[in-house]
Parts: sequence; C-alpha cells; structure tokens
Amino acid sequence: MDFRSIVGHEDIIKHFKSSIDMDKVSHAYIINGEEGSGKKMLARVFAKTLQCESGASEPCNSCKSCLQCETGNQPDIIVVSHEKPGVISVDEIREQVLDSICIKPYSSKYKIYIIPDAQLMNPQAQNALLKTIEEPPEYGIILLLTNNLDKMLETVKSRCMILTTKPIRERNMIDYLEKDMGLSEDKAYFCLDFAQGNLGKAIKLASNEEYVKIVDSVVDLMSKIPDMDVDDLTFAMNSIEEFKLSINDYMDLMQMWYRDVLMFKVTGNLDRLLFKGQHSALKKQAAVMSYMSIEGKIDAIAKAKKRLDVNANFSVTMELLLLTLKEK
Ligand SMILES: [Zn+2]
Repeated sequence: MDFRSIVGHEDIIKHFKSSIDMDKVSHAYIINGEEGSGKKMLARVFAKTLQCESGASEPCNSCKSCLQCETGNQPDIIVVSHEKPGVISVDEIREQVLDSICIKPYSSKYKIYIIPDAQLMNPQAQNALLKTIEEPPEYGIILLLTNNLDKMLETVKSRCMILTTKPIRERNMIDYLEKDMGLSEDKAYFCLDFAQGNLGKAIKLASNEEYVKIVDSVVDLMSKIPDMDVDDLTFAMNSIEEFKLSINDYMDLMQMWYRDVLMFKVTGNLDRLLFKGQHSALKKQAAVMSYMSIEGKIDAIAKAKKRLDVNANFSVTMELLLLTLKEK
C-alpha cells in the first residue's frame, strides 16, 4: 500500500508528498470528505510514509516500519477507537491520545494519531484535544478524519491543515472522461468544471473536437502572452485566425482565464479555478498584475467582442487586443 496504489486524490497526495520533501509536515490535519471517499486510506498511507525509514515521499515497503504497517502493528501509529456508536468521549481522547502523546515514539521518527469519525468527538473531547494541537510535541502528528466539518470547533479547525477529498460522484465522472473518453486529466477536469459538474454537458464538450482545439489554443496563448515578443504575437494572430468563426467562444475563454487570475489573486485558492491545470502560469500572472489591470483586460476583451459584432476589421481588432493583454 502506497500513494501509487491510491486512485484519485491527486491534489491531496501532492500536498502530502511536497510537505515531506520540503520538511514542512504539519502537526495537525483534518481530512474531510464524504463517507467512503478514501480518507482512511489517505491517512494510513501518509502515516506509513512519514514513518518509513527511507524518509522519502513514497514508503519503501521493505523497512521494518513499512512491514509493521502492512500488518497493522506499527507501534507509533495509533488509530483511535470508540465504544458508543454516536460519540467519541473526552475519556476516550484522554486514554488513547493525551495520556500517551507525551511519551516519545517507540521506534520511529513520529508518533501519529489517526482519529476516524472525528466529527463524533463531543465539544469536551475536542477541547481536550485542542491543547495538544496548539502545543504538540515535536514528534506528534494528529490526523482527524471527518465527514462533517461543521461539527468541528472553530478553534480546532483554525489550527489544522484542512484537506478535502473530492466527492465520489465527481471522481467517477473524471474517471469516465479519462478512461472511456481518452481525455487527459487536465482536460477531464476542465470539461467537468466548465459543464459545472454536469457529465452530459462535459461529454458533449469533450466530444466537440473544435472546442477542444479552441481551449488548447486559448491556454497556449494566455499562459505565454506576458512573455511574447512581436514575432510571437504575429504567430499567435495567425493561429487565432483559424478560429475566426468561433471567435465568441474563443474570447469567452480568454475572459475566463482572467477571471481565474483574479480569483486566485483574491482567494489564493486553486480549487475553484477553471484552468486548474495551468495553476503555475495563473499564479505567476496573479503575482505581477494589479486588480485594476486584470479588470482592464476583461473589459478590453468585452469591448473587442462588441467591435467584432458590428463587423470591425478582425485582424486590427485582435492585434490591438493582444497588445493590451500583453501589457502588465
Ligand atoms: Zn519503509
């Protein structure tokens, strides 16, 4: 069992791996997501990787700790259990977590507590845990798994790194688009987001070859435009000519690109971006552009659309537009 054997959850796995690579592992995580979405599997593999003697971002599957994990006998990975079905009591948190976390790990680098169904902790139990989350021992890591973030106290949430798994429905749809329609992961996410989660629409979009080409062209242009010189712009103009008949769709997508830049600048959150696959280009542009300039570009595209509607010269209008978009 390792990250390679987990289907989906790419973003969470990426987060875990880079936190290990950069030595920035948090002391407290909330893995949030619906029942059966794979939270336990993610937590177990993350814990196994952290304890692996190789110290790499994938478990080696052959050291003593990895072998202990396979049989569920790693002494420094503790899975908290509870007796009553609907509640995790303060006593259970005390006995299984607080009483032992101050004792150094038995044989590994960390002491890791996995608390499944953490939403069942009553407020007293959460408050009891709070102090440990606030001032954990250096080796202590707590993984709270929950299917209802609203049941967690604000004070607890604010001290945890919160990771949310994608709903199973969405993951199944992505799978379908990737495996049955042969789309790349990026494109599958794009089509599904663009269709606002409607699989039928996403399939229609994915089967429209012309549209897929437009998306590719827009992504290529928008991600490179800040660094383009005159020759590049001329080349870009020629490729836009190819989409003259679908120029409205083309320009809609250009506007969406800048909406993504704006959204990222405001929220710093990748989840809600349409062009997720291009997050490094979007991030870079968000860092150098002011709010005014981003809005200015969205307006410039709208104006160019209007001009083309009243039959302004295509090349002149688009050239002017590209020059405006190229500026910071
Ligand atoms: Zn190992």
